Amino acid sequence: MTNYQKVLKILEKDHQETMLEQFSDRSKFQMLIATMLSARTKDKTTIPIVIKMFKKWKTPQDFLKVPLLELEKELYGIGFYKVKAKNIKKLSQQLVDKFNSQVPETLEGMISLAGVGRKTANCMLNYAFGVSAIAVDVHVHRISNRLGWVKTKDPEETEEELMKVLPRRLWSKVNMLFVNHGQKVCLPIKPKCKECKVKEYCKYYQKD
Ligand code: SF4
Repeated sequence: MTNYQKVLKILEKDHQETMLEQFSDRSKFQMLIATMLSARTKDKTTIPIVIKMFKKWKTPQDFLKVPLLELEKELYGIGFYKVKAKNIKKLSQQLVDKFNSQVPETLEGMISLAGVGRKTANCMLNYAFGVSAIAVDVHVHRISNRLGWVKTKDPEETEEELMKVLPRRLWSKVNMLFVNHGQKVCLPIKPKCKECKVKEYCKYYQKD
């Protein structure tokens, strides 16, 4: 077994459902909105707001009818809520106009939508469409570099490099396991290395 496999296997044992796994039985549209809203916001803040919001509005058509100010109020507490509210309105219009109200199933289609970047699109491929992809957010970028799997400056480069070193069948596990590990143990500042179960495979730990 390679070190990549070993690390992922160890992390899998302690894995707790991430927010996107919790939303995996929702419609693709709702998953997309939840993914966008979760960017740069803690899950414990995002989840209750999103659940409450989807009780009121469920489809692109519903979101088109909501006045922007009302949507902003609903999203208050989420990082960049005003920008995100505007993007939800725009994206709903784009889906109705160009995609028959359905979330497109390709990376290119998704990143053509307002407020949807590569990370969100890859998360959707991964969690909603079951397609192998590596969604690189701050956690995945940081942990891949600390472990020494890549040596990169930004998430986009990390995605490219991870795709080179990891076999495709492991791609879908990376986001889910690293997000969880990054929230609980491999924190951005002061990672809890002593209690980390993958420390023997970690370059950052070995250097310290
Ligand atoms: S040993 Fe430390 S830096 Fe390495 S993965 Fe674990 S918590 Fe992160």
